[in-house]
Amino acid sequence: MRRPIATIAAWLGGPPAIVLSGLILARAIPLWEGIGWLAGCAAWSVAAGMVLARDLRRFSAALTASSSPAALQLVTPGLTNLAQRIIQTIATERETREAAATNANYSQSLLNRLPDALFQLDGLPGSRRIVWRNPAAVRIYGAEESALLRHPQLRAALAEAELADQPVRTTLSLATPVTRDLDATVIRSGDLGRAAPVYILLTDRTRERELNQMRADFVANASHELRTPLTSLIGFIETLRGPARGDIEAVPRFLAIMAEQAERMQRIIADLLSLSRIEMSEHQPPSEQIDIGPVIRQVASFMDPILAKASTRLTLDIAESLPVVHGDSGQLTQVIGNLVDNAVKYSALKHGGSGGTITVSVHATPDADFPQPGILLEVIDDGPGIAREHLPRLTERFYRADKGRARAVGGTGLGLAIVKHVVMRHRGRLVIDSVEGAGTTCRVWLPAAAPAVPAARRSA
Ligand code: ATP
Ligand code: MG
Repeated sequence: MRRPIATIAAWLGGPPAIVLSGLILARAIPLWEGIGWLAGCAAWSVAAGMVLARDLRRFSAALTASSSPAALQLVTPGLTNLAQRIIQTIATERETREAAATNANYSQSLLNRLPDALFQLDGLPGSRRIVWRNPAAVRIYGAEESALLRHPQLRAALAEAELADQPVRTTLSLATPVTRDLDATVIRSGDLGRAAPVYILLTDRTRERELNQMRADFVANASHELRTPLTSLIGFIETLRGPARGDIEAVPRFLAIMAEQAERMQRIIADLLSLSRIEMSEHQPPSEQIDIGPVIRQVASFMDPILAKASTRLTLDIAESLPVVHGDSGQLTQVIGNLVDNAVKYSALKHGGSGGTITVSVHATPDADFPQPGILLEVIDDGPGIAREHLPRLTERFYRADKGRARAVGGTGLGLAIVKHVVMRHRGRLVIDSVEGAGTTCRVWLPAAAPAVPAARRSA
């Protein structure tokens, strides 16, 4: 502290002291008067140095403190105003910088959480390179980045973006490792022809396109499935009106076929309506508490005539003390019915029209394979099995592993789609395992209903 006071005092008192000494030496003023002036000058310089040094100390403290600059009062004339303005300017600058840093943090975390891939390319037009990518880009396209940039559609969009003021959009398809449809948006950030960054945003549209395709396929399949029996019905009606009119032998035969075709149409429409009802309620899990054992026994008794006709043996293996599940008894009846119906229908084909053994088993699952306690229902048959390549598509509407065989037993390919949607509504799982020539096992896992919380604990 002493040094600033001495320095300021020297700066303030030095020049007048030199002038006074010169005047004394030139005898322009008397010696004692000169010494008096010199002493006064020294005293004034030290006092002014102390005041100025204290003001500077306060100013420096106020710069680092967060107190209001209005509170700063200095003795040196004019310094208070100047110091307050400097502190105000620095505080404003600091706030602006902090706000910019916060905004940059928000932008960064937004880019890090963006589910779509974003790449930043730098360099001159024509030789741009990826210099930054968000975590989604690393996760989704990590290994294939350079192949992606070489994609003709993306290159064309990049070239177009160099000349366009607006973002350029394009669609591209990647073949490996799995087929994917992407929407790409190329955005140039700076002026035309400049080395300002270019951004590529990639959005995966595979699921949407698949859904559109499935919708289109569904309409085509439904129309086709209904048109076949309808064409047959119209054909028979025309025959009965024309060439077979009055043919007493042909009429009952034709009517039997017509009834069969009409029933087929009725079955398809009933299944489609049932599927759409299940889909409409899919977001709302059922709340009824169901004991699955009696439901299985009831389905088995319904199926008795079909089992007897196909000479198929059905074994029930129902564990005791199963947990209850939240379920819709009608829909669960439909699930078990459809699975047993498939087992009977397709097993009979292998066993020459009749025979075969089916097991329906159910047991509780605290297994590690399932996320929570529940029940596992299995429908096991020793039928013809299903070829591996068909397994992932079995639950699609109207999908049949063996079209000819399924049609021969009257299948429309809606049974397993219904099973899948009911299981989804019950927040369960459906797994179909099959070995060609050996048989099929359909597994349905349903979560157990959470044990009711006693009222006292609930209010605690
Ligand atoms: P629907 O059930 O609507 O009358 P479907 O039986 O043909 O007709 P799904 O139950 O959805 O339709 O079954 C789809 C296809 O899966 C069947 O066409 C059949 O090819 C195959 N499949 C299903 N279950 C079995 C099984 N247990 N054994 C062999 N193939 C089966
Ligand atoms: Mg079926």
